[in-house]
Amino acid sequence: MTIELINTGSELLLGRVLNTHQQWLCRRLSDLGYAVQRQVMVPDTATDIQQAVREALGRADLVIVTGGLGPTSDDITRDLIAQLLGKKLHLDPAVLAVIQQFFADRKRPMPANNEVQAMVPEGATVLPNPFGTAPGLAIPVDPNPYRAGAGGSWLIMLPGPPRELRPMFEAAVKPLVLREFPLESAFACRTLRTSGVGESALQERVAPPLAALVAAGLEVGYCARVGQVDVRLIARGPTAAGVVGQAEAVVQRLLGEFVYGYDDDGMAGVIVQLLTARKMTLALAESCTGGGIANQITNVSGASAVFPGGFVTYSNEFKQASLGVRAETLAAHGAVSEAVAREMAEGARARLGTDFAIAVTGIAGPTGGTPGKPVGTVFMALAGAFGTEVQHKLNAYEREAFKQVTTQQALEMLRRRLVG
Ligand code: ATP
Repeated sequence: MTIELINTGSELLLGRVLNTHQQWLCRRLSDLGYAVQRQVMVPDTATDIQQAVREALGRADLVIVTGGLGPTSDDITRDLIAQLLGKKLHLDPAVLAVIQQFFADRKRPMPANNEVQAMVPEGATVLPNPFGTAPGLAIPVDPNPYRAGAGGSWLIMLPGPPRELRPMFEAAVKPLVLREFPLESAFACRTLRTSGVGESALQERVAPPLAALVAAGLEVGYCARVGQVDVRLIARGPTAAGVVGQAEAVVQRLLGEFVYGYDDDGMAGVIVQLLTARKMTLALAESCTGGGIANQITNVSGASAVFPGGFVTYSNEFKQASLGVRAETLAAHGAVSEAVAREMAEGARARLGTDFAIAVTGIAGPTGGTPGKPVGTVFMALAGAFGTEVQHKLNAYEREAFKQVTTQQALEMLRRRLVG
């Protein structure tokens, strides 16, 4: 089966908006066992969109087009595709009623422009959009005039905003794809997410013991991300689930201590889950991460049950005033030191009365490094009923990556403590 993806939007080609649909849709489809063969970005111009759709229909069984379903003058995808396929558009009263209700729920008058979003090409299935006004559309292109003799294709149009497209994919596109294009053979995929081990060290440890399974059809992928490495195990055919299960057992045996989650799990989500299950709480005292750890934790729904709050203490004065770090400690060791990290964590834990507190203090750079404490130096402390543990790292990356890696490592330190 051939799938092609067309992302429309001049803003994508101007570099104003990152094309996250490309990554997200390819990832979701590959998790389901499908491969996208080709992807193209085109500006919001009629000739570009029509040419891209015509070419894709000339090759693919399924063409997914994103963007351009809005009410404004540059949102022309619906009209152009209907025109290309020779399908008339009609106003769908049910779709119009949903759009009217969308505005009524928000106590806003519906602009006349939005009516265009209720225009549906003949033969199209409407894919509901619970988070916006532009519904998606799925059109069977059968016969496909651009691929004579090869049978019909499907064309799916989805709106641009990710918060609308993603739930629509899960609720409407995924069932349609599974129904119309059943997988030719069974497919199994498992991603193990690791933290605290480098990509090559990881590969060295697991590749040789997995060799026999690879010979039997297992695909192993390693994906290094900021502060973590994913191991992806894929197999196809009647034995797919068994092969992936055996491979997972091998990775768990060799690297289990580093595996913090599976598939779409995030580190902060895992931490919130672990703390919730244990009815335990966490406080934060952040210097060099500037609230980055709190940001990660509060991205998780339900975080309030385990996270009463934290401190962003950037200056020495504020470290003293809010956390009780002693002037003598700062004078003797400097703000970026084991002793200060320890006092920060203990101060945060005492002030918020939590089971745990994490503190981080470091030199994000590019300035501020010294021979003794180069850019990238970090001290991370974890305080708890067990006492206080401090780790010293050198995260010599550019500033943003430094903050992300440090955040990941600090959370990993707590995870290790929680899982024993
Ligand atoms: P709207 O009703 O908001 O106009 P639309 O279907 O017309 O929706 P666009 O106008 O193409 O979609 O895009 C709306 C917004 O969605 C863009 O400003 C952009 O922020 C986001 N967006 C569009 N395409 C992508 C993409 N490929 N990746 C990430 N974000 C995107």
